Amino acid sequence: WNVKSLEALPSALDQVVTNSRLGDDEYFIQKIISMIKKLQPSEEAFYVLDLGLVSNLMDTWKRNLPMVQPFYAVKCNPHPNLLATLVAQGSSFDCASPSEIESILALGVSPDHIIYANPCKASSHIKYAAEVGVNLITYDSVGEIEKIRKWHPKCSLLIRIKAPDESGCNWPLGSKFGALPEEVSPLLQATQTAGLRVAGVSFHVGGESYNFQAYKTALEAAKAVFQEAAKLSMPPLHVLDIGGGFVSEPSSFEAAAATVKTSVETYFSEEERRSLTVIAEPGRFFAETAFTLVTNIIGKRVRGEDRQYWINEGFYGSMMLVNPKTLLESCIALKCMSNNSDGIEKNPVLMVCGKATGGARTYSSTLFGPTCDSADKVLEGDQLPELEVNNLLVFRNMGAYTSACSSHFNGFGSAKITYILTHDDS
Ligand code: PLP
Repeated sequence: WNVKSLEALPSALDQVVTNSRLGDDEYFIQKIISMIKKLQPSEEAFYVLDLGLVSNLMDTWKRNLPMVQPFYAVKCNPHPNLLATLVAQGSSFDCASPSEIESILALGVSPDHIIYANPCKASSHIKYAAEVGVNLITYDSVGEIEKIRKWHPKCSLLIRIKAPDESGCNWPLGSKFGALPEEVSPLLQATQTAGLRVAGVSFHVGGESYNFQAYKTALEAAKAVFQEAAKLSMPPLHVLDIGGGFVSEPSSFEAAAATVKTSVETYFSEEERRSLTVIAEPGRFFAETAFTLVTNIIGKRVRGEDRQYWINEGFYGSMMLVNPKTLLESCIALKCMSNNSDGIEKNPVLMVCGKATGGARTYSSTLFGPTCDSADKVLEGDQLPELEVNNLLVFRNMGAYTSACSSHFNGFGSAKITYILTHDDS
């Protein structure tokens, strides 16, 4: 958040609380939300999307990985304004289905800037990719080769290999995706026999990876595939797709990027690097921190010393794939709603739930989502301040695999309105 973000909203600064002693981050969230609640005093949950932050993240990417073209993984969050901003920032795109491809083409992106990065695809989906000119496709099984030969023989293939080390990531992918080392040579030979062109290698070290060495071992394995292709007298491979897994927290991203840079230089000679195209498929990196989710407490039950709250978002909405520890750490309680005329308290109190709050009493608390399933519980037994119906619970960093994964169970879905913050750089 920065001050420029505020300028994009109609001015309501006279309503903004100025006595917060918390850090800038929480303070700006409080200001922005207070303004939005004044504009739209409904109790519905909503998102705030900071597009300026997305541009900043692209700058960070280019600074740290100038030689790696990002193909944003649309699956992570396909919000149209996020996609449009990434188009404007020069991103390419990783799509996993015809509908994702369609949404990116509709933004005017050339099919050359799309990779169809789903190793197993329905025949009709491969046919669609051929029709619209998406010509870079991943695969990791022999069965896929025959489908591609039949429906899209002119495309270039990336062989997806299993990353050798997925430790340290929160969302491993290797049990489903990626050729094993002993499968690589037979797969390359089968592709060659089918008369298809292998352009290079892809891998994914697992989602939200804090083990930066995982990129090093994966790049070493990728180099072995380049060598195997040479042994089989195939045309030289020239594309290296280092997948996703990047987190946006600056020091972690910088460390991951440094490992990628050094490892590419270790395993590929200067001459090899001259003809090498390196791409990546970051999802979380660009989406996670850009979205803040604002929920409303819609119910409360007191059981002795325990507190139970219902909020109007939950497991079946945006929170299925967010781990509870992250949710708690990202949570801010805003006691800014009351039933007074403009819907905003004169002295809103702001509490950061995951940290001590200046001696304020906390209670063992459970947070339920709104549906009728008892599994729709997003926090359990965590210490939260005493809250009331109509207080707001704000969750930061809610852009990755949140609304994109929501269902309509019980007719709820996920937050429907997104307020957009843009930076005025003029
Ligand atoms: N590429 C592929 C093939 C994926 O499956 C995923 C996530 O599942 C991504 C990229 C995006 O990964 P992340 O959000 O960890 O950057």
